[in-house]
Amino acid sequence: MKQFKLFLRGIREIGRICPGLITLTSLRSIANALLPFINIYMSSVIVNAIVYGEPLEKLLWYAFLTVLLNAVCSVISAVLGSLAGLRQSSFSHLYEMHMAEKTMDLDFADLENPETFQKKQRIQEIRNLNAGGLWKLLDVFPGIVNSGVSVVVSLSITVGLFISTGYTGDNFLLQTVTSPIGSILLLILILLGTVVGIYTNAAVTKKLYTILEGFVSFNRIFDYYLNNYISTYHAGKDIRLYDQKALIDNESTALFGEANRTFRKLTRNQVKYSGISTIASVVILAAVYLFVGLRALAGLFAVGNILLYINSVNQFIEGINGCVNQFVALRMNQEALKTYFDYMDIPPHMKDGSQPVAADETDPLEITFEDVSFHYPGSDQDVLQHLSFTFRTGRRTAIVGKNGSGKTTMIKLLCRLYDPSEGRITLNGIDIRSLRYQEYISLFSVVFQDYKLMAFSLGQNVASSMEYDEDKATASLETAGFGERLSQMSNRLETTLYKDFDEDGVEISGGEAQKIAIARALYKKAPFIILDEPTAALDPIAEAEVFQKFDQIADQKTAVYISHRLSSCRFCDEIMVFSEGQLVQRGTHEELLADKEGLYQELWNAQAGYYTECC
Ligand code: ADP
Repeated sequence: MKQFKLFLRGIREIGRICPGLITLTSLRSIANALLPFINIYMSSVIVNAIVYGEPLEKLLWYAFLTVLLNAVCSVISAVLGSLAGLRQSSFSHLYEMHMAEKTMDLDFADLENPETFQKKQRIQEIRNLNAGGLWKLLDVFPGIVNSGVSVVVSLSITVGLFISTGYTGDNFLLQTVTSPIGSILLLILILLGTVVGIYTNAAVTKKLYTILEGFVSFNRIFDYYLNNYISTYHAGKDIRLYDQKALIDNESTALFGEANRTFRKLTRNQVKYSGISTIASVVILAAVYLFVGLRALAGLFAVGNILLYINSVNQFIEGINGCVNQFVALRMNQEALKTYFDYMDIPPHMKDGSQPVAADETDPLEITFEDVSFHYPGSDQDVLQHLSFTFRTGRRTAIVGKNGSGKTTMIKLLCRLYDPSEGRITLNGIDIRSLRYQEYISLFSVVFQDYKLMAFSLGQNVASSMEYDEDKATASLETAGFGERLSQMSNRLETTLYKDFDEDGVEISGGEAQKIAIARALYKKAPFIILDEPTAALDPIAEAEVFQKFDQIADQKTAVYISHRLSSCRFCDEIMVFSEGQLVQRGTHEELLADKEGLYQELWNAQAGYYTECC
């Protein structure tokens, strides 16, 4: 039952991703299944007409009808086939989009969780391995419809064969074959054949899946080398300078040899089981011929019906085998479907809030951490402990502290990439979890340390959109210190970043990329601007430039500036010092420096000493 529900859910999902595909493939399968019955039925009608000496015109009419029905059904099948093919080719793209949308809609906490990544990876691996999951369903579903229609139609034709009576002679063999016992014996034989079919098919498929399962790591490594590592030019330098070609060649050849040996084993197994099922089919076929022939000999039906019944029973057996094969495939695909829905069902908790964020743009926005503690999912170690403070409108706050003291994690909570494990964060007194998620996160422009730019044009990167306001984008780049470089670019804002899609694209340095990321944050015009180690990739001159411009960058906004270079933070309104997830000090530079026992003064002296020593 569970299996059936999952199957139906999978079918509905395909329908949702690609409307019309299921209907078209079903109709095409019905047309394909009916096609052979036209010939089966009409050939028996024609033979009977010849045997009973019907007029030539009638024979010609039957022949014409046979051709006509064949032509109509073939045309319908071909049209439906090409329509379904077209729809199916869109499925691939729509499926990717569907997966991508889910990934982008995930709560960040889930996205960053390795378990989520593994789930997604697994879906892809199953797809690479044996087109499993929704793809297998797409393959199996038309087969089920086709076989199901064959079984129903052939059964309705063959009923006549099994229930026909009327032999009155005294031949024992004919008496037995024409009796109900004869019918029951044949049905039992067909049933036994089906059981053998299920057994052999299940054995082959199970072995296949077990072997394919072992290929997951093989495919993972291959995919890594071929699609990720060697195909991007970023790795090109390392491959050449460290002669990694030989390493990759050796590793791939060894893996491939192992794969070949496994496939040979699989082929031997398939040959063994297909031998068993072929013998079973031949025995059943012989029994069917005997049964139908003897019943015809006993005069239970016309000669032409011999063809009708034999072919129909064949269609019936084929249909049953088809259903069995498809059901075995469905059963084997169950795990894959479950994996798919496990990923798709990850709920987006962050989007639960429904209250609007501050009504008026000019309203002051105060964000308060109220006794906030936090541990990452899957870990019980608190990386933030009992934080309580407020970010007040228009103020510049610097956050300092050693690496790993929790600065970035605090920002992730501030921007609702994560929710606190304990305590709460409020915006003007309202718990941010009850606010509309999109509205809340639109309040923040953040430049994280691990920001990403896209291989689109400079303007599109700055605006994070295909369309952009040129003046605003230029002004943002200038404020971020990219003005001079921009003026040297002949295509200006239309210059493509990186060479992934455009051979005229430009490679930018780490510092330049960081400035573009800052410009993107400025373009967003959010009331909060947060720079997390914005100068990490900059040379000292560029660093001084960003720092001098910080006032201009922050403008009227509430600004949070994270840096472990204390000299960059000294002019902020307030400095918060983090240590091991706790807020250990806060105040102005002078106030903090005055505390001779404080961590700030220790850090300051350490850095001042370093600069004195080296410069
Ligand atoms: P900082 O920004 O001060 O360098 P972070 O906030 O990045 O510090 O990290 C604080 C602690 O949280 C570190 O011990 C770090 O290893 C841990 N941490 C950071 N990100 C994750 C994560 N996604 N999962 C688990 N632990 C993490």
